[in-house]
Amino acid sequence: MKVPPKIKTYCPKCKKHVEHDVKLDRVGKESGMNRGRRRYEAVKAGYGGSPRTPKKPNYKIGKRPVILITCSECKKKQQRVYSARSKKKAEVV
Ligand SMILES: [Zn+2]
Repeated sequence: MKVPPKIKTYCPKCKKHVEHDVKLDRVGKESGMNRGRRRYEAVKAGYGGSPRTPKKPNYKIGKRPVILITCSECKKKQQRVYSARSKKKAEVV
């Protein structure tokens, strides 16, 4: 999905329509040493199976593209999720 580099849209801090810079939102990777992960690994270790039921298979291939828009006046950042699903990654063109 192609996204324009600048979007004019509403800023909740300025309370008006302002030009926004568009960037792709990169979600961070989960740390392998966080508390929940350590507990899960400890419970799963040895015999006794998994504490959680296995996930159902995901038949939806496409993902909803997420972009990060920054207000050009007050620099407030907003996350925007497109409602349409897309197989290709979002790219700023
Ligand atoms: Zn603003």
